Amino acid sequence: MYLEKFRVTGKLAVITGAGRGIGLAIAEALGEAGARLAITDINGARAEEAAAGLRLKGYQVDSYTLDVTQPDAVNALSDEMVQRYGRVDILVNNAGISICEKAETMSDSDWLKVIDVNLNGVFWCCRAFGKAMLAAGGGTVVNVGSMSGFIVNRPQEQSQYNASKAAVHHLTRSLAAEWAGRGVRVNAVAPTYIATEMTAYVNENPEMHHYWVGGTPMQRLGSPEEVASVALFLASDASSLMTGSIVLADGGYVCW
Ligand code: NAD
Repeated sequence: MYLEKFRVTGKLAVITGAGRGIGLAIAEALGEAGARLAITDINGARAEEAAAGLRLKGYQVDSYTLDVTQPDAVNALSDEMVQRYGRVDILVNNAGISICEKAETMSDSDWLKVIDVNLNGVFWCCRAFGKAMLAAGGGTVVNVGSMSGFIVNRPQEQSQYNASKAAVHHLTRSLAAEWAGRGVRVNAVAPTYIATEMTAYVNENPEMHHYWVGGTPMQRLGSPEEVASVALFLASDASSLMTGSIVLADGGYVCW
């Protein structure tokens, strides 16, 4: 009765930025739970390579090139999915970038780039795929936020990243409230530092590593799979009473 609720058998899941890292792990979790996967990434070759790897494991996967900062492309992909499959059941807004910069010397373009991918991209995807879900009478959206939407990271400076993730959390709540009565749930997972290529620079910086791990009650970084299992929970009926929730997966980081 309970384990069945984690199944997403036959559902169509669209995951952005899923060519590697956390997005790829989330795709695998959803595939293992029975979903048909649409792996999307700005890097089409990376998306196809990830898709090929998942096909070898027996999952039903298509890959698509999608830059989430391009609303016309997002709308077109949503229309294409509805035409091909009739509906989209699960959207995971995972695509994101980070740039470390001091606020007082940050270039206009570095501010705009991060806000464009991390916030605008999430909205364009929610708008397009959410509209299709509302028309179909239901669906679930999982946004990948960050503990950076709750705390200010240290020692690296990344005000635009932190602001973008706090905005994603409140966008999550806003859309959850708008769509709750029409069958579409919107939640977010907010991870701590996860060992991916985004954070690989820490490996050349023992002092920073010391800050990150030392600031975490669990005294370690997380893995993409540990975020993926939370995303699966939020995407599935196992979380049927939840909408507008921002679920921390942070090894206790915000406790300190
Ligand atoms: P990653 O850099 O390993 O992977 C990100 C993927 O997104 C890449 O494949 C990249 O090509 C794609 N991408 C970048 N810009 C895009 C765009 N405009 N449109 C579509 N795809 C695009 O990153 P990751 O560590 O796996 O992070 C994934 C998400 O998790 C991001 O939203 C990130 O902010 C969030 N997050 C990461 C951490 C961490 O410590 N790694 C912590 C908290 C939150």
